[in-house]
Amino acid sequence: MQACISLGGNMGDVADTFRKTLRQLKNTTGVAHVEASRLYQSVPVGTDAGRPFLNAAATLDTSLTPIELLRLLQQIENSHQRIRETHWGPRTLDLDLILFGDQTVATPELTIPHPHCWYRRFVVDPLAEVAPEARHPEFELSVSQLKDVLYTNDFHIAVRGPDDLLIRLPELNRNFSSEFPGVLLLPFSEANSENSRQIVVSFLAADETPRPFRLRGRVDTAEQFLRDVLSAARGQVTQVANFT
Ligand code: ATP
Ligand code: CA
Ligand code: CA
Repeated sequence: MQACISLGGNMGDVADTFRKTLRQLKNTTGVAHVEASRLYQSVPVGTDAGRPFLNAAATLDTSLTPIELLRLLQQIENSHQRIRETHWGPRTLDLDLILFGDQTVATPELTIPHPHCWYRRFVVDPLAEVAPEARHPEFELSVSQLKDVLYTNDFHIAVRGPDDLLIRLPELNRNFSSEFPGVLLLPFSEANSENSRQIVVSFLAADETPRPFRLRGRVDTAEQFLRDVLSAARGQVTQVANFT
């Protein structure tokens, strides 16, 4: 089965950590044809994340099961002194399992496709280099099509939520306009349902997920949640180097 993984890190010599990670993968029985993207740099998401992140993606063929592959990735993370502190905090190495063929997995320990992969440029950009044709089995879109969505000029986010949040959308649009050009938040009821590229962010507890381009956030931290999503979806990701 072909698996797609993403690599990230912002502590220590990250390029070197990535190089060693690829070697560790190649040396694993049941893993073959490891192919890596170039190296990318992105601004960190979240307030405590620290220095800019370096990111890359890789594809590999494996006879391991998804959970065995996840355990292998966690073992490799641990071998690079990854310490788990704050969520999204600084780390030497973060390895996420993004796609595993066309399989879907939904267990407490492992979700495939990775539920937050699709709106993160720092995942999708490098992955589009090594696996443009790989398909997201739930959205039925290829990685390169997902990338097109994130680079759409008019990027609409349809918001479902309580009235006191919807009433603040013009204010949020003003707050976000210089940082995220082209982005428009609008109430779900006013959104164009024909727009297949718009992201729906719901702050209603009962709203079901996942569906194509649907995300759920907590209403008490709505502004920060939207800012994090927009940073990941619209933030600058630049290709910096070859690292292998
Ligand atoms: P994010 O998930 O937003 O990228 P993160 O990578 O910082 O956040 P971690 O602390 O690295 O989160 O991982 C939290 C847990 O996510 C892990 O213990 C793991 O069991 C679980 N997990 C679920 N699905 C996946 C997946 N597809 N790839 C990696 N970890 C996963
Ligand atoms: Ca991650
Ligand atoms: Ca992770």
